[in-house]
Amino acid sequence: MTIIDGKIISAQVKQELKVEVEKQKANGGKIPHLAAILIGDNGASETYVASKIRSCEEIGFRSTLIRRDSSTTEDEVLEIIQQLNNDEDIDGFIVQLPLPAHINVDKIIEAIEPRKDVDGFHPINIGRMAKGLPAYISATPFGVLELIKRYKIETAGKHCVVVGRSQIVGLPMSILMQRNTYPGNCTVSLVHSKTKNLAEITKQADILVAALGKPEFITADMVKEGAVVIDVGLTRVVDTTKKSGFALKGDVKFDEVAPKCSYITPVPGGVGLMTVAALMYNTLLSARREIYQ
Ligand code: NAP
Repeated sequence: MTIIDGKIISAQVKQELKVEVEKQKANGGKIPHLAAILIGDNGASETYVASKIRSCEEIGFRSTLIRRDSSTTEDEVLEIIQQLNNDEDIDGFIVQLPLPAHINVDKIIEAIEPRKDVDGFHPINIGRMAKGLPAYISATPFGVLELIKRYKIETAGKHCVVVGRSQIVGLPMSILMQRNTYPGNCTVSLVHSKTKNLAEITKQADILVAALGKPEFITADMVKEGAVVIDVGLTRVVDTTKKSGFALKGDVKFDEVAPKCSYITPVPGGVGLMTVAALMYNTLLSARREIYQ
């Protein structure tokens, strides 16, 4: 059994990006500039945004953080988006989710100029990704693909079961794993909360991607011997032994599932770190106008 080390791979990706930016700078090219909009005071969102900004600094990107309190209106957020859409110095930007309940998330995402949508959430980027056209691929599924690639995990002809059908993780993951390329060419099953006999399906998985947000939901009896298990889940649970007062839990019961696997990602130290690295990669592509002119 091999533990897929997101810490090592994300550090490698970031190092490669750093080298690229240095080359770009030396050639008089533009330094990638990422902006992040953070609305409200969700603790997890604060941590994620801080890590994105920190990664920009490490790699040598420029970054701008736009913070507003939770009383900010939808129109005010739309106005900030318009400004960023029109600001030629900003190559790409993200709106950190979740948003306060009074803001319509679809309206916000659709207002982002697709060529600056480095999170890959805009319907144009999702549609282009589904068609196999150049597109920003949403960071978490992109990070998972990169882990599969760098560990040279065989995917062609395998049965990939994705648990969860969210727009930002499960759905794009399922589309990407069936594409006629590597990583891909899997036979894909996408299961969700209305699926009957879920364990019978997960047990058939050669590659199991858990993205449902239910800590330790996937137990050993739901996993086939030799499976590749990718745990996307990241839930904060109370843990008084930790200074922060919480621990991060994945969707997989790691201790009992790991011995059955050929490969498995840990939580923390797996997919989460790759998400940030993938966002940085998309930001470099945006500065180079590689997806859109
Ligand atoms: P989400 O929008 O809440 O979607 C959860 C999906 O799981 C839904 O499709 C839901 O089904 C399905 N589901 C819920 N309970 C289920 C059950 N008992 N059996 C089968 N399916 C079930 O969540 P998300 O945004 O995709 O996030 C999923 C997890 O990944 C969360 O823990 C989140 O924190 C984590 N995450 C991690 C990263 C990272 O960087 N590592 C990035 C994004 C998300 P229905 O559609 O039927 O409701």
